[in-house]
Amino acid sequence: MVAAAHDHDVLIVGGGPGGLATAHALSKVLPSGSSIGVLERNPNIHRPQGAGISLDANGLKALRAIDAALYESVAASELSTSIKASEMRTKAGEVTRTIPGEVMEAQDTMMLARYGVKSVQLPWHDLVMVLFHALPKSVEFMQGVKMQRYEQLADGSVAVFVEGKEQPVTARLLVASDGYFSPVRRQLLDDGPPDFKDVVIFRTTISEEQAVAAGFKAGYNVLYFDEEACGLLFRTNSSTYSLVVSLQTWHLEKCGVDPSTLLRTGDAVPGLSGSWELSRKLDLEHAKVSLQTALNGWDPALMKAIASLPADRWVVHGVYCRSSAKMDPSHFGAGNVAIVGDAAHPIRPTGQGANMALEDAYFLAQAVGRDPIGLSALGEFRAARAERMRPVMRQSEVGAARAYKRGAAAEVDDPGAPVEPSDPEAENKQREDEQRSFRDFLYGVVMEPLRAAEVAKA
Ligand SMILES: Cc1cc2nc3c(=O)[nH]c(=O)nc-3n(C[C@H](O)[C@H](O)[C@H](O)COP(=O)(O)OP(=O)(O)OC[C@H]3O[C@@H](n4cnc5c(N)ncnc54)[C@H](O)[C@@H]3O)c2cc1C
Repeated sequence: MVAAAHDHDVLIVGGGPGGLATAHALSKVLPSGSSIGVLERNPNIHRPQGAGISLDANGLKALRAIDAALYESVAASELSTSIKASEMRTKAGEVTRTIPGEVMEAQDTMMLARYGVKSVQLPWHDLVMVLFHALPKSVEFMQGVKMQRYEQLADGSVAVFVEGKEQPVTARLLVASDGYFSPVRRQLLDDGPPDFKDVVIFRTTISEEQAVAAGFKAGYNVLYFDEEACGLLFRTNSSTYSLVVSLQTWHLEKCGVDPSTLLRTGDAVPGLSGSWELSRKLDLEHAKVSLQTALNGWDPALMKAIASLPADRWVVHGVYCRSSAKMDPSHFGAGNVAIVGDAAHPIRPTGQGANMALEDAYFLAQAVGRDPIGLSALGEFRAARAERMRPVMRQSEVGAARAYKRGAAAEVDDPGAPVEPSDPEAENKQREDEQRSFRDFLYGVVMEPLRAAEVAKA
């Protein structure tokens, strides 16, 4: 790319896992001397946020193919001691099933043997920090800068307008990695907001010391599955646990909590159509009290853990998705605008959101590397990503339909949920076969290391 008259060759909106991985990947394939800018609206990305994330074989392979050193840093945060067991508990805290740690280890061994990589659980914020601290010098990271809208310029470049500044930032290629309420996608596609799935999620991390003080056993993962809410405590590394609670909106309402007070959808940007944007600031004290109200009477250990965590350590958001049936190459952008990560494919938090964002980063860079001067390879990138993403989105819909059919939140609107046999043995066999072939499709993906561009920028 040749962009002497522009501020950057590439401007990435969003400094989450997708945007940061894209900055790394593009810096590998663009001619030396090219510049990459990243706009991140969060004024302090160093403040720990979020809970844990599971990087699976496909996401880790993408990271390794982008930069082996990034993969090494992430793999180094792997558990130093194994998980003793996973407990399934009722909401009252009664243990109904214990899965020994060896079962999980066997799964890891199988993953390693079959796909060459095993999953890594790490705090979401650690992943962001690994990616941020390793950014090459050619990347300018602009923190606390919120994009509002963009404009196509006559010379084929893009001008991005940010809050509080008149002068736009210009670039040859705009990459939107701005999350599931992507303002770039909204302007480009104007296809309405993603569907709210009537679930509000609370995420945070908790130290082992705090978890044990609350009454949990060291080295144990704990899972609660109830029709009104689900809870998950899982170890992300030797000292940190991830704590995630998802609440059904009908249950919140039953408890006298207005779910909309826990969502950040607010006003639209003036001048743009539609009326949706993640703009409202959440009252996290209110959110924590709402969580405690909705879980009143649940496992005392869980309640004690929640009470011990400050309100401002929680990330609270709604679950928003788009349907696999509607997935289309245009969701990955058009012309000199590329869309990646949750912005392109918001799915249920099944763990594939981050993994697919890392894959997007890799494949976008591969396309740009094939044609660094023009943008012709981006069409192939979009078509291939839509093709790969469709079954992944579909799998999360089928999983949700199965999980929630027990509760009041049955996903009857999800298109084409399979008709299942009534014979439990046949049902299990069908499920195992499906899971095996899906795993092969997902984790068997081949990604060669990105090759550095040989040309220098003119
Ligand atoms: C604070 C936070 C905590 C999270 N915690 C977890 C977790 O614990 N576990 C988990 O599985 N997933 C978590 N996620 C979601 C997870 O990051 C995504 O599902 C997935 O990794 C895809 O990443 P992404 O980069 O596409 O999107 P995101 O991670 O959502 O990143 C989008 C980024 O774009 C920025 N942005 C949005 N609009 C603008 C704008 N107008 N101008 C500038 N910047 C903008 C956002 O601030 C954000 O940093 C979290 C996301 C966030 C934002």
